Amino acid sequence: MAYPLRRLACGILAAKRSCWRHPGCCSRPSCKDVCQPVTFLPSLDMAAPPPAPHIVDMALPRTLIDPKLIYLEPAVREYPRGREVLARFPDAELVEVASHWRIPQLADPALAENWLRVKRETLVLGVKKGMAMRPNGRSADFIAPSSSNGCAMACAYCYVGRRKGYANPISVFVNVDDVTRALARHAARLGPKIEPNTIDPVDWVYDLGENGDLSVDASLSDNVRDLVAAFRDIPNAKGSFATKYVNRDLLDYDPQGRTRIRFSLMPDTIAKVVDVRTSPMSERIAAINDFVAAGYEVHVNFSPVIVHESWEAEWKALFAELDAALSRAARAQLKCEVIFLTHNEGLHDLNLQWHPRAEEWLWRPDIQEAKWSQSGMRNLRYKANWKRQWLDRFLGWLKEAMPYCQVRYAF
Ligand code: SF4
Repeated sequence: MAYPLRRLACGILAAKRSCWRHPGCCSRPSCKDVCQPVTFLPSLDMAAPPPAPHIVDMALPRTLIDPKLIYLEPAVREYPRGREVLARFPDAELVEVASHWRIPQLADPALAENWLRVKRETLVLGVKKGMAMRPNGRSADFIAPSSSNGCAMACAYCYVGRRKGYANPISVFVNVDDVTRALARHAARLGPKIEPNTIDPVDWVYDLGENGDLSVDASLSDNVRDLVAAFRDIPNAKGSFATKYVNRDLLDYDPQGRTRIRFSLMPDTIAKVVDVRTSPMSERIAAINDFVAAGYEVHVNFSPVIVHESWEAEWKALFAELDAALSRAARAQLKCEVIFLTHNEGLHDLNLQWHPRAEEWLWRPDIQEAKWSQSGMRNLRYKANWKRQWLDRFLGWLKEAMPYCQVRYAF
């Protein structure tokens, strides 16, 4: 079911039912259509839960990615990886661009209405220039130079930069050899990891997929296979990436314990609305044992944690499902990250144009507050004093259900 769009007093185009408690309200403080403050919060325990938002499964496109239009930098043809990818899609229209970062055709606001088609049918090929490693300290010790950016999936809360344009289709970088050489050089300069930390007690960890999802990228080229192979030969470092897609081709990559995959998990009820085009939660959970058996280190990301009135029962059910599914070997090596939702107004406005139902979960000004990020972005996060309590409760449920699952970090 789609909700009709209408122009609100604040000027934004909103779904008629964008605030699920008060039809017609966009919930923004600046909007003249704003509702009166709700009173059943802050304690999500206190009141009887209001009616759940109307949830309807999003119809998923049959094909995650099927490039019909390829934007490419001219230099791409000089690289074997570039020629390989082009040969895989001989019928695609090719359009040369000066830079994979600046493609005016992808920056047209009208494309917001064709969000999923752009993701499915557009591919960008480029050459990665900078090879800097950025210190991280949360999921990884360092963020590696990307082998790609953009994503064919379409999570409504996705923070991945939209510098290419609204739908942020996948860009594949054809010089992955430069990335693997830079990684090997950087790790060699670091030497052994003397001080264990929560990221890894022994190895330096490099995040390989900050700007996309490598499991999907692996269906387009051998870049991910090459990265996994490279870490087999770097004695003091591991590669790592988060994923929401189960690509069983990766089971043949022979990682020899040197690549960590982090499957992102959240309750299915919400994922069906906000995790657009991703693998179903049951499929991700079912894949964990197989990836461990294939030689990966497998962790889980409980992310994003979206607070709502029925969240306790849903998360407890997810922990129970996960606990029941894991093999002894998978449990022995399992660790997790817990990341509460961060949102922002710009993304909210964009989502209202293509997927307003997701905003019923993501946009909660009654329990969110603004926060400036280190990069100067004005984001929304759950109000700090409540979030602390909710995080403690979340960690309590997790410990009760899966005491063996060490939390690497939570925020
Ligand atoms: S899978 Fe990751 S990168 Fe892709 S849309 Fe979802 S959050 Fe963004």
